[in-house]
Amino acid sequence: MKLADVVAVLEDAYPPKTAESWDAVGLVCGDPEEEVTRVLVCVDPTSSTVDEAVESGAQLLLAHHPLLLRGVNGVPADDPKGALVHKLIRNRSALYCAHTNADSALPGVSDALARAIGLTVTGPLDPAEPSADTGLGRVGELPEAEPLRVFAQRVAAALPATVQGVRAAGDPERLVKRVAVCGGAGDSFLGAVTRAGVDVYVTADLRHHPASEHIESGGPALVDVAHWASEWPWCEQAAEILRTAFGGRVDVLVSTRRTDPWTVGATSPAAGGHA
Ligand SMILES: [Zn+2]
Repeated sequence: MKLADVVAVLEDAYPPKTAESWDAVGLVCGDPEEEVTRVLVCVDPTSSTVDEAVESGAQLLLAHHPLLLRGVNGVPADDPKGALVHKLIRNRSALYCAHTNADSALPGVSDALARAIGLTVTGPLDPAEPSADTGLGRVGELPEAEPLRVFAQRVAAALPATVQGVRAAGDPERLVKRVAVCGGAGDSFLGAVTRAGVDVYVTADLRHHPASEHIESGGPALVDVAHWASEWPWCEQAAEILRTAFGGRVDVLVSTRRTDPWTVGATSPAAGGHA
């Protein structure tokens, strides 16, 4: 297949026009006329996943996060991002990014997260338009209610391991059944999850003050996971879309490299810690 054929399938699944206005999605480098026989799907286009694409012989690296989000005036090889563009082009590998268009798609990033956790999705958390079934985040249900501490363990088991692990805010014994999820940094939806009347909200990058004020005001319990881990289930979703479209003609791999920037976790000794 030509790169243009693969891009056409991606843009059908994740229409670029649905990306947020500040976003930068689409083809970053690569020749639409060149052949693609292998694709590698990842969350972050970093030196590690670019190396993985080159080592695995992929002619396309499909990433969720943009490499060049802000405007650039050049991609010199002595710039960290420019070096990645050079490495990709020298190895005849393209880079394509599907970011907020993959967030709002159906299925999208939050569907993959919801599915990994075992939820039955009932609709978007923040509809693209009133009554739309697309939009950001998802609301779904567990088969049965369970305590928050059990649910947090469920989330940890469903996602790839990170040094951050999974942390929850709220009464550990609180029963949860209705769940909101948002892959990536979702603290802008703390008001929306309260209005949605869910029992718990799973997202990433939650900060002290918004989380504390949310819990103090009686909002749903919170489960905070690593940003990378929350979006990693999307890789398999995107891979399946390509496998369904191209069958055996294109080999689609999911990255196995952890690009969560946090590499060390340490906890205070239990004895003598803060009271
Ligand atoms: Zn993200």
